[in-house]
Amino acid sequence: MIMDLKPKRKKGYQSPQGMHDILPSEQGYFRKIYTVCEDIAQFYGFEKIDTPIAEITELFSKGIGISTDIVEKQMYTFRTKGRDWLTLRPEGTAPVVRAFFEHGMQNLPQPIKLWYFGPFFRYEHPQAGRFRQFHQFGFEVLGEQSPAIDAQIVQIFYNILKELRFKKLIVEVNSIGDSQCRPYYKKLLVSYLKYRADSLCANCKRRVRENPLRTFDCKEEKCQRVRAQAPQIINHLCEECHKHFREFLEFLDELELPYSLNPYLVRGLDYYTKTVFEIFSTSADGSGGSAEAQKKLSEGGEERDLSKNALIGGGRYDNLGKILGNERIPACGGAAGIERIVQVLKEKGSKIPQPHYPKIFLAQLGNLAKKKSLKLFEEFRKNRILLSESFGRDSLKAQLRSADRSGVTHTHFGPKRSIGRDYYCERYENWHSGDDKIRKSGKGDEKKIKKIIRIPLE
Ligand code: AMP
Repeated sequence: MIMDLKPKRKKGYQSPQGMHDILPSEQGYFRKIYTVCEDIAQFYGFEKIDTPIAEITELFSKGIGISTDIVEKQMYTFRTKGRDWLTLRPEGTAPVVRAFFEHGMQNLPQPIKLWYFGPFFRYEHPQAGRFRQFHQFGFEVLGEQSPAIDAQIVQIFYNILKELRFKKLIVEVNSIGDSQCRPYYKKLLVSYLKYRADSLCANCKRRVRENPLRTFDCKEEKCQRVRAQAPQIINHLCEECHKHFREFLEFLDELELPYSLNPYLVRGLDYYTKTVFEIFSTSADGSGGSAEAQKKLSEGGEERDLSKNALIGGGRYDNLGKILGNERIPACGGAAGIERIVQVLKEKGSKIPQPHYPKIFLAQLGNLAKKKSLKLFEEFRKNRILLSESFGRDSLKAQLRSADRSGVTHTHFGPKRSIGRDYYCERYENWHSGDDKIRKSGKGDEKKIKKIIRIPLE
């Protein structure tokens, strides 16, 4: 189980802490999420991009911001034999912007709409919903500044969760201004926080100097009390940011997408400007909700037992192009944590479509039959007929047992030299000895056996 924080066993190799196998039984969830993303991407005109797992370290330290948690503490950075510093990608937006410039996409008709799906790496303290290797899918629109795009991005992520049958979703939105208005707001906030420094935790005292907005993310109760009285950025937006935010909200209203304003939502990455958003699911779906969302829900009499992990987060990042490519490219996007979505799907008991399993089992008796059956198996494949086999086993009994386990409804007996003709077997719910269930195909037998897949022998 990927989600279990299993205690480390002493013996044998284990996957690295915070990194997990995705077992066959869990592949269906990932496949389902991928298919939903792919369909939605196609509908909204997004094209898929895969960027490398590792990038030059500077891409993240410059792009995400030197004093963010990710760059400060969470990057897997290593030096190659060629003495380059590389980092396992902790997020997808900076690599997408790098690829945008590297491939001259700024010269193509704008906007450029890209989506991705893959593994990401952050050296975090492993806990529920927080892993060191995790998967995200993301949608990014580059080269468009209209707030309509911000609303559409939120709508896309909302739709994906709805397609995955999430019922109660909480969309939180905020604006964190831009390089015009944020510096002034930061000053205001710093002077407020300095005044209350005694009431802050040690971490937040440090954040006041380095990244004061990050104090809003602190889970410590005393810091949240300080936060509750802090000046709110939406009251200090410049005219342009204010207009952008107002229009963004109007678009959401028009789309009838339910959202709530969280004036303390700031997101952990420095590159955001203007719009930021996060999406949670409520406990009715199995998890979710920020402190603000919890408060609102409890006021509304809804379930209170909410975890604090967002499923999806994103926003506008108009300055990232300037930082990474020296060209201002307005852009907006977001990313979803796939493990967190899978966890909620599991908790909800969501039925995930299973792959098509074979209904026919190809059994063989004797060495020559085995050889011929191997070839026959390939014939089935060419004709796109699914079937299972147990070529490693000689005994008929063992093979039929294997057929039972694979849940097939019919067994086809491959060619047998001594008999030189086809044998068929009806599948029985509980077979006992094997041989007594084998039916020799003869005149009229086809009628007795419901489904016969007849393969002509050479
Ligand atoms: P972020 O890139 O931090 O904005 O995160 C976007 C989404 O990715 C979050 O809302 C989570 O669902 C997911 N996520 C981020 N970090 C982790 C992690 N360490 N483990 C699992 N999921 C994560």
